[in-house]
Amino acid sequence: MLGKRICIKVNNVQVNEGCALCGGPVEPLIPIWVFLENYLPVCRKCAKKHAEVLLVALDNFYKDNLAEKLFKKMATQYG
Ligand SMILES: [Zn+2]
Repeated sequence: MLGKRICIKVNNVQVNEGCALCGGPVEPLIPIWVFLENYLPVCRKCAKKHAEVLLVALDNFYKDNLAEKLFKKMATQYG
């Protein structure tokens, strides 16, 4: 997969496409997920294989409920 960079991108939709690399099932989480640069979603398996550090970052993000904290903070600020 030369030339196909994997990156963490902001995600705000549920997509039903398969993984861009292996075609397997992938359910991108909101608000961030791993994608190719052209915004095609990548499954956990491929992310681990090709960009493990990003998957670790993603898991830490969701593990610590940072998304929820962020939403709560936004709600207090603007709500
Ligand atoms: Zn895959």
